[in-house]
Amino acid sequence: LNKALFLDRDGVININHGYVHRTEDFAWVEGIVDLIKRANQQGYLVIVVTNQSGIGRGMYTEREFFALTEWMKSQVAAQGGVIDDVFFCPHHPRSASPKYLKICDCRKPNTGMLTSASRKWKIDLSRSIMVGDKRLDMQCAITAKLSNAYWLTDEALSMNDALTTNTDTRVKVVSHLRDIPLA
Ligand SMILES: [Mg+2]
Ligand SMILES: [Zn+2]
Repeated sequence: LNKALFLDRDGVININHGYVHRTEDFAWVEGIVDLIKRANQQGYLVIVVTNQSGIGRGMYTEREFFALTEWMKSQVAAQGGVIDDVFFCPHHPRSASPKYLKICDCRKPNTGMLTSASRKWKIDLSRSIMVGDKRLDMQCAITAKLSNAYWLTDEALSMNDALTTNTDTRVKVVSHLRDIPLA
């Protein structure tokens, strides 16, 4: 079985300006390509798992999302890094066009994207890691029983603040991607 580094996108790969869908608005978070390359070298699959309700809300299309995704992967590849796969949730439970209006199991904090990835890539989730900037990313990692979850935030957040916790996942706040250890 493989191990994976699951990366949220907005706020982890690109600075979260809100519903980013054009290359012009895509500003890289410092250290992300280095983290991806370290993960590649350490034998992790690098898999993006991203809520994209902007699709469901009609702010951009799946086609535009795919185009940005290909550009993002090529930019990383040009610097020697590999993003192995990208999973996205276009849905929203309340605010979306009919095609995308649903209570799905893929929208984080639900774990559908992780379980789909683990089937496709034969991943041992208990040896895998999540990096996210939102509480829902941490919640997703905990529910999926990943080994570690890194909460990239500058805010002083209480670790106990509304996080359902268990003994399987270690959650740690980090202020820079370089502070994430990979073993
Ligand atoms: Mg995010
Ligand atoms: Zn979904």
